[in-house]
Amino acid sequence: MESDKAGNLDAANNSDGTRDHEPAREIFIESLGKMVHAIILDLSSDPIFCFNRDGQYLYVNRAFAAPLRRTPNDIIGRRIWDIFPGEAGDVRFATVRKAFETGEAQEIEVTVPSTPVSWYLTTVTPVADVQGEPQVVICISKNITQRKLLEQELYERTIHDGHTRLFNRQYLLEKLEGCIAAWKASGAAFSMLLIDLDWFKLVNDAHGHVVGDEVLLEFSNQLLACFPEHCWVSRYGGEEFAVLLPACQLEAAMHQAESLRHVIEARRFTHMELPVTISIGVAEFADAGVRSFMERLDGLLYQAKHRGRNRVEG
Ligand code: GH3
Ligand code: MG
Ligand code: MG
Repeated sequence: MESDKAGNLDAANNSDGTRDHEPAREIFIESLGKMVHAIILDLSSDPIFCFNRDGQYLYVNRAFAAPLRRTPNDIIGRRIWDIFPGEAGDVRFATVRKAFETGEAQEIEVTVPSTPVSWYLTTVTPVADVQGEPQVVICISKNITQRKLLEQELYERTIHDGHTRLFNRQYLLEKLEGCIAAWKASGAAFSMLLIDLDWFKLVNDAHGHVVGDEVLLEFSNQLLACFPEHCWVSRYGGEEFAVLLPACQLEAAMHQAESLRHVIEARRFTHMELPVTISIGVAEFADAGVRSFMERLDGLLYQAKHRGRNRVEG
């Protein structure tokens, strides 16, 4: 191989027409190409990474490493469970394994324990060798945190009452269906309270709707505070509330209703220090459907009203 005066490898042709410098240029172009690819991969804001069959990281870009507060070199060569211990690693590897086994691209939604938590949708694509055997999988993740947060917010809105933030009637009825299914499957007892504020129209008439709304909000917070977390506290209608008590028989439910009635009777609401009382119908579920169970509760609540209000009937 010869060079011109400037040392340029581009100068010489051999007598047979081949050019000695070509391998050098090809190597140069190839390594330049690899460098450019590496830079492009590292510039990507989407995490891109690659596994072998053992779940060992062969490559990760910066966007993958950064949310984990690591550098790519900290991760490359390690296995999936070193980075995501326990179940988080198992779930990820299950998708990687499926991509290897089926030879088809898979998708998985995962969270990364960054602060705040981020959501990613990852496509896991197997890359086969000349024999058609997948040797590696290439994973490309899209950050879907914004979409997830929006979905979560929309879902929260569909199951909650806008004013009090308690669960709404529809969601309570869904939970009731669930309790009924469990009751049928294993006989798990459960009870429900149907609660109505007494003479509430008078509160509105005397103090206006805004004060009425404030009373409802304060009442809702008090209601929430009176029941353990596993109970489903809901706004059933205007000034009507329902509490579903899983794993609770009639006697215990009656006891809870009575102590709630006492708490509300003793409390004063809003800056106007208004007294409020409630009437409550209580029932334990026995072989019936949603509709007849709700009718029974409605009947008991009506009875509490009829017998003078500020009462519990079960
Ligand atoms: P009772 O003891 O028989 O239950 O008497 P009540 O006045 O509470 O019963 P009634 O059903 O006659 O009236 C319920 C009232 O609740 C009427 C309605 O204006 C009021 N109400 C329902 N929803 C809301 C609300 O979101 N905000 C306000 N401020 N009032 C509401
Ligand atoms: Mg009422
Ligand atoms: Mg009512």
